Amino acid sequence: MDDYLLADRFGLESIYDLSKCPFIQKKVQRLPYAFVKEKLVLPVDERKGKLLVAICHPYDLEAVEEIRCMTGLEVEEIYCPQEELEAAIERCYHQGEKEASQFIEGLKKGGMAALQEREDEYDLLDKQDNSSVVRLLNMVLIEAIQQGASDIHFEPLEKEMAIRYRIDGVLQFRHSPPPELSKQLLTRVKVMAKMDIAEHRLPQDGRIKLAMGGRQIDFRASTVPVVYGERIVLRILDKSNVVLGLDAIGMGKKTLTAFQKYIGQNQGIVLVTGPTGSGKTTTLYSAVSEIHSEEVNVMTIEDPVEYKLPGIAQIGVNPKIDLTFAKGLRHILRQDPDVIMIGEIRDRETAEIAIQSSLTGHLVLSTLHTNDAPSALTRLVDMGIEPYLLTSSVLAVLAQRLVRRICESCKESYEPTVQELEDLGLKKGKLCRGAGCEECFGSGYRGRVGIYELMPVTGEIKRQLLASADASALQKTAMEMGMATLRSEGGKLVQAGITSTAEVLRVTRQI
Ligand SMILES: [Zn+2]
Repeated sequence: MDDYLLADRFGLESIYDLSKCPFIQKKVQRLPYAFVKEKLVLPVDERKGKLLVAICHPYDLEAVEEIRCMTGLEVEEIYCPQEELEAAIERCYHQGEKEASQFIEGLKKGGMAALQEREDEYDLLDKQDNSSVVRLLNMVLIEAIQQGASDIHFEPLEKEMAIRYRIDGVLQFRHSPPPELSKQLLTRVKVMAKMDIAEHRLPQDGRIKLAMGGRQIDFRASTVPVVYGERIVLRILDKSNVVLGLDAIGMGKKTLTAFQKYIGQNQGIVLVTGPTGSGKTTTLYSAVSEIHSEEVNVMTIEDPVEYKLPGIAQIGVNPKIDLTFAKGLRHILRQDPDVIMIGEIRDRETAEIAIQSSLTGHLVLSTLHTNDAPSALTRLVDMGIEPYLLTSSVLAVLAQRLVRRICESCKESYEPTVQELEDLGLKKGKLCRGAGCEECFGSGYRGRVGIYELMPVTGEIKRQLLASADASALQKTAMEMGMATLRSEGGKLVQAGITSTAEVLRVTRQI
């Protein structure tokens, strides 16, 4: 029986043209794009507290139930043929990108005059919701969120301005509005972030809170004066994006079991290392969430507290009032903690208190900025920590990176070059790559997954550390004991068709 007859039997109304529906006209999006695309469902209106949802498979009760959970609203279904539904989804979600580009084109072709006339009124931007710059900024914010960006960069250049989004860890160019706009965009961002709009010589920080489709989204805003104006970066702190749970961050089974063993100890230090944006904080948060229970007092000190973890006491460092990592840690120790998470060990004082705490019966979790696991130990020695203190406190070091996943919609297999196989020590055979499609905005990648290198601080490593061995000697020993390196772990993901050789080389090239 086809869907239309089935809908009729279920007693559903039918609709063949969604363009007149309020949500479609206003482009109101209640649900994530990936969800509506997969399930072929689309909220089109709200009637008396009930969400009217267009569906094309009347028997898909699960999708309806999920919408009920996500929106907290009762759902009323209405049947719509698949073709029309798919077209409406695209119109509703992808217009933002085209709109922003068309809008910028329009401005370049002569819309600037109107814009400049209004310049003196920009102090009142908040009340001018229809002004071009407000609309442009809103379009950019919506587009960036829909595309899953983590940061938005506004960069004044000599002749124009560049707007780029960081998606899955890599910057991608999106728009180039005329340079006249950059000043007004800057003012708008400063107003929204409650910065001083008259200050142009000093860098500033602020926060913007917005709601989109019922979802709370915070932005951390930062401005820095550069040659052609002021550069703005907005970091998107989308709380719905945090993956929590060690089993959800892509750790191999062997690494996961070993890592869980170390964070299950009641004293000692476990370190997580990697460059900025390698997912260290997510790993620590996942570890802390796993350890947390009624019987355990977990406390954290972070710079800044990015996500609030339920049931855990989190302290943000604050240089303005001289609350540093080291100071905060001393206070935490008077609060009878069992587990302490330190956002980052940056100096000798913090390292010393961390070690002291671990030697007096606390489990300490922290991060360090090093490229691989063995370098974490030598970095601490360089900071002035005695090797014997490290051998008696550090249990294990986890190094990590995030690699982009090949887009499932445009994945294709190809014959790799000999060099490619050699670089990662792979077996002969076909590999996968993304050709680039609409779903992945032409990049060939969608989403990310972690690769991990876990080095237990065992007897032989301890002996070498006490004999002042360097990082490469430590690594050699760790590998002899069976440690899989970041690159070899990445190679496994390449062979499994999850990521590409280029990605693994990109994130491991410093090693
Ligand atoms: Zn794709």
